[in-house]
Amino acid sequence: MSWNRRSGTKKHGILLDSPLDDDGRCRECGGACCRAFISVPLTWDEYVRLEGLGATRLQFSLTGHHSLVIENGCEFLSHGRCTIYAHRPDVCRRFFCSD
Ligand code: SF4
Repeated sequence: MSWNRRSGTKKHGILLDSPLDDDGRCRECGGACCRAFISVPLTWDEYVRLEGLGATRLQFSLTGHHSLVIENGCEFLSHGRCTIYAHRPDVCRRFFCSD
């Protein structure tokens, strides 16, 4: 569970062991998860990949804890859908919303 103090939304979910692609529920919720969290943790490879895709809200960390800030909505969310679905980070691929 995570709590976004600014939006006041509360989301529940778990990280699956393997990616969950094409979850039909994602087409109906409008990307609530992509607005309900502060950030998405990234590996270095994901950081570079998203930078190449034009990400502007990347946070680099010398400790290796890179992230994509999604507070108030991920920059890749458009009309309730992920515009980089095939290239989204692993955490996005494995997150299963249990709300
Ligand atoms: S990268 Fe895609 S799936 Fe991940 S938070 Fe952003 S819009 Fe959502």
